[in-house]
Order: sequence, then structure tokens, then C-alpha cells
Amino acid sequence: MNTPVRVRFAPSPTGYLHVGGARTALYNYLFARNQGGVFVLRIEDTDAARSTDESLAAIFDSMKWLGLSWDEGPGVGGPFGPYFQSQRRDHYGIHAQALVEAGRAYPCFCTAAELEERRKQMAERGEAPKYDRRCRGLDAAERERRARQGPAAIRFALPDQGETDWDDVVRGNVAFQNQVLDDFVVVRSDGRPTYNFACVVDDHEMQISHVIRGDDHISNTPRQILLYQALGWHGPRFAHVPMILGADGSRLSKRHGATSVAAYREMGYLPSALLNFLALLGWSYDGTQELFTLAELERLFRLERVGSNASVFNLEKLDWMNGQHLKRLPESERIRLVSEYLKERGWDLSSRSPEWTAMLVRAIGDRMKKLSDAEVHGAFALRDRLEMEESAWASLRERSNAAELLDALAARLEADREFSLESLEREMRALAAERGVKAGELIGMARVALTGRTVSPGIFEVMALLGPERTIARLEQAASRWREASPRARV
Ligand code: GLU
Repeated sequence: MNTPVRVRFAPSPTGYLHVGGARTALYNYLFARNQGGVFVLRIEDTDAARSTDESLAAIFDSMKWLGLSWDEGPGVGGPFGPYFQSQRRDHYGIHAQALVEAGRAYPCFCTAAELEERRKQMAERGEAPKYDRRCRGLDAAERERRARQGPAAIRFALPDQGETDWDDVVRGNVAFQNQVLDDFVVVRSDGRPTYNFACVVDDHEMQISHVIRGDDHISNTPRQILLYQALGWHGPRFAHVPMILGADGSRLSKRHGATSVAAYREMGYLPSALLNFLALLGWSYDGTQELFTLAELERLFRLERVGSNASVFNLEKLDWMNGQHLKRLPESERIRLVSEYLKERGWDLSSRSPEWTAMLVRAIGDRMKKLSDAEVHGAFALRDRLEMEESAWASLRERSNAAELLDALAARLEADREFSLESLEREMRALAAERGVKAGELIGMARVALTGRTVSPGIFEVMALLGPERTIARLEQAASRWREASPRARV
């Protein structure tokens, strides 16, 4: 039997989109595209207290920025909506009722305080905390009597014995002893479904064929499979993808650095590079090729090639990959992305021509690994105020002829009406020859005076980016600062 491929990404809007979540979304997306299937976005917002509009917006934003478009879900609709769990309560109620009627679930009247007390006692006896099934054996009359006193939760009646297993696409056969599982709540006394129950009802109703998710959910899977069986439904195939680890081998968390997709966007990574990087955290094509476009990933991705070993999030590799993706873009695209990025970061480029940004991008050249490198390497030109690095200044201070040469250079450039890359080079070399210094030395001094650093893009590009006024002013300022710092040198 060939069931059409339908997969879903099911985030809870209780925070930003984590890079691990993005990888889960990506694998689902790629599998759907690759199999000619459907990619569903479902919002698991049953926890009203923790779900926020801001995180929902952040999830949508990050998904869109990454280019992971969904075929069904919020904003696009589809035949199995609504796609927000908060709007599907009646669906859960109907199926919970069916479970009760079939004797596979039962009302539980225990209060939170009672449960807590019993949990404590179990812990004191050294037992694993588990619901003691107190309400499972109540007879119909007792249930009715208690129901009149207030609403009840509904618990799933689990089998005592046996095991539940499945053939996981990533991990092979996985089995759990049923006795380690609890008679868990499917619908709370206030009518809200629990994650495991809502997930099963929705995956069934939305005709999900494959559940691809992080392996932090693996202990939920036997519970969900038992629910499918109790409801008489055919369950999906499961693929549990290993966690992403930080450099120290523990699960990737904020301790290791940024974990949100939005933060990587802000840091100047390209969506194509981040996707490429995430794809390879767990999947490989032939073990050799590392650079892929999204279109290539869509074509080449195979769920069977997702490995069961956890992968480490290696930032250096991401940087390298991002540099490669940037390099492969047509220059015009790189320029467009840089100017968009700079604007998003609050730089006012309104007085700058498009050629100016193009020149900045060219001046930085291959040093640009991230869009933010335009800010780092271009800071001298983006800011009107020069930020002088201490060590750079110290290197200038050591030069006995610095002030004199910088002043002379300023004077020469003032007379240079052309102020082009060619004329600037000509003037610089002429001055060096005239004063009997090496052009490289003069350039080194000018670099510190103009950029505040000892490393920068090419000096003539630096001058052109600054323009005549700022160039001359900075040369003169450096000269006078140098003189003020060495009063005796004046004579
Ligand atoms: N809402 C769950 C989560 O964000 C979804 C888990 C699943 O894919 O079943 O972890």
C-alpha cells in the first residue's frame, strides 16, 4: 500500500524557533518535497499560559526567513484545519469520550494536592512516581456521584503487561515495557488535552504518514502508539532524530551560545547556509559533499540516511559554510543582502549611493564570512566617529615621522580633485618617493589614521569609501593627536 507522504512540524509557541526545531522542520520539509508529499505546520498551543503571540510571530518569521514554506497550516489553510490546537478542543473531547466508552480511559477525580502527596510518599519508599490507578477501579455509581461534585480529568488505562515497540526509521526497533508507563492524563479536568493525546488525534485526523521529530520525544512514542491502538487507528511511521550537541558533548543550550534561528539571522548568516549546516547535522549525502543549495537538498535528501548518532554544532564549520554560500552568490545579490542587513541593523545608508555599498562589499571581498563582517570591516566608513584601537595607535606613535607624513598626505589629497582609486594611489606613491619612505610604510600609517586599525580593506578603497572630507580630516586629526602626545617632537 502506498500512503501519500504527509508530514508535520508541530512547534509549541512558548519561545523562539530553536535551531534544533529548525532542523526538525527542515527534515520534514525536505522529506515532503523529496517524496512529492505535503508539509503541514501545526501549532501546539494548548498550554494557554505559556503560549504567546510573540513566539508565534517569531516562529513564523524564522520559518519564512529560512524559506521553509508549508503547504497546509496557519495562513494557508488546508482540508484538515484548524491548524491551531487551541481551536480543536471539540475534536479531542469526542475521541476522549470514545475511549471512556470503550473502557480504555476513565475519569480521575484525584486532586493535584492528593497526587502530590502520594508522589512524595512513593519517592520516600524509593519507588518511581506513578499514578496508583486509584480511580481506575471505581464503579459506575461512584463515578457518577463524584462527577456531580466537580469535573474530572480523563486518564488512559494502560495495559499492565507486554511491550510496545515500533520500527523507527532512524533507530530501528525500539521497545518499551508497558509496565514502566503510567495511566497518563489525556484530557485535564479543565478540558484541555495533554500533548500526547492532542498529538495523536491531530496526527490521525491530519493523515500524517511520518512523524519526524527530536528523540527527546522517544518516551512519548509508546504512549502514543498505545493510544492509536486503543482508538483503532493505524499509526504513522516514526523517525526520531538525535539531539544536537554543544562542543562539550552536552545537549545544545544557551550555555553554548546562541540557539535561536533569529539570533543567527542577526549575526549575519544566510538562510541557505544555516539550512545547509543544519541538514548535515544528522544527515549526509555521500559523506563527502558538504555544500548544498536548498533545491539540491530537496532533491537529494533521504530519511533513511539520517543517522542515529548525535551531531555537534560546530560554529566554525557554519562560518566556513556561510562564507562559501556568500561567495557563490552573484555580486549584485551579495550587495543587496549586505545593504538590507545593514539597514536592518539600524545603519542609515540614505546618504550613500548604491555604488558606495557595492564598493564596500568589493573592498571586504573574501574576508566577508557573514553579512555582519560588512559592519566589522566597514565600521570605519559606516561610522562618522573614528574608533581608534589602542594597539593601532601605539604602532603609529612609534613612528617619528608620522605627523609630518600624515599632514603632507592630507595636503596632497586636498589638491587631488579626482579622488579616484587611481589618483589616490598615484598621490600616495609620489609622496612616498618624495619623502624617501617606502609606500608600504606610508600606507600603514594612513591605515591607522583612517580606520583606527592595523588591518583593513585596501587603503585606496578605504579612502574612496570615506570620501575626501573624512579622509583629509582623519589624516589631520591623527597628525595633531600625534603631536599633542609628543610635545617635544614639535621643535
Ligand atoms: N509540540 C511538540 C514540541 O514542540 C511537538 C512534538 C512532536 O513533534 O510530536 O516538541
